[in-house]
Amino acid sequence: MSRSGRQPIKRVAIVGGTHGNELTGVYLVKKFQQYPQPLERPSLECVTLLGNPAAIAANRRYIDRDLNRCFAATDLANPALSTGEDRRAKAIAAQIGPAAHPTIDLIIDLHSTTANMGLTILPSSQHPFNLQLMAYLVSANPSVRICYGSQDNQPPVLLRSLLPLGCTIEVGPIAQGVVDAVLFQQTEILIHQILDYLDAYNQDKPLPVPSSITVHQAIQPISAIDYPRNSGGEIQAVIHPDRQFRDYEPLHPGDPMFLNLMTGEAILYEGDRVVYPIFINEAAYYEKNIAMVLTEKKIIDLIA
Ligand SMILES: [Zn+2]
Repeated sequence: MSRSGRQPIKRVAIVGGTHGNELTGVYLVKKFQQYPQPLERPSLECVTLLGNPAAIAANRRYIDRDLNRCFAATDLANPALSTGEDRRAKAIAAQIGPAAHPTIDLIIDLHSTTANMGLTILPSSQHPFNLQLMAYLVSANPSVRICYGSQDNQPPVLLRSLLPLGCTIEVGPIAQGVVDAVLFQQTEILIHQILDYLDAYNQDKPLPVPSSITVHQAIQPISAIDYPRNSGGEIQAVIHPDRQFRDYEPLHPGDPMFLNLMTGEAILYEGDRVVYPIFINEAAYYEKNIAMVLTEKKIIDLIA
């Protein structure tokens, strides 16, 4: 994973529709495939692909299994796993290439969220090159937020984790199956800023980055908070009105988190420190037993 010297980033994969009902990425990839010229940079080549065509056709997140949880090395190597998503994951991994000799240098995986997360970037790893790239994106677009995901310390299963370099771009709020022109355009600009940074880096004319960045790190050991449920597993309380759409805003001890719709009772945050929830009320996470993900803010100094 070390990237010594100035190895150029020659091939970039841009993936949309890893989740079939997240249409921002689907339409961006379709646009790039129809009009590839704006992606062209002198020093690199972009490869665009639709992650899960069957799920896109069905306007569903997935058909049998969440494709973005199918990239564990053991699963990719297991021939017994043969759902459509398992086969698609193996095909994408083959296209990216083996870890020791990938044919792609950097992955951009395009997602959207029903949570109010604006333009969020989840880097593939904490590799110094990713940090520099993220810092540039924040300086070019101060509304961009950087998140280290809750899965970063677990065996990698996400598409972006096929390579150390790259990121997921997560934009919202946007309903599943819906395209929003503003988010579409903002995401497109972000992709061009990434390509501009990579091209300048390849040509040994690195674009300036700030000396430090603020990142949101999913708290350890457990960052995902489930909805309050009864003994039968049914949700008993929903996101409190004071918390809805307030991703990245501080949650203080004693603040309301959930509201029991039957009794009207507020359920308070019982932690002992301020946290910053994200993915609040994400539609796709009801089945994953996640009501929100708690993060903490960290300032990271960048080594020049
Ligand atoms: Zn997604």
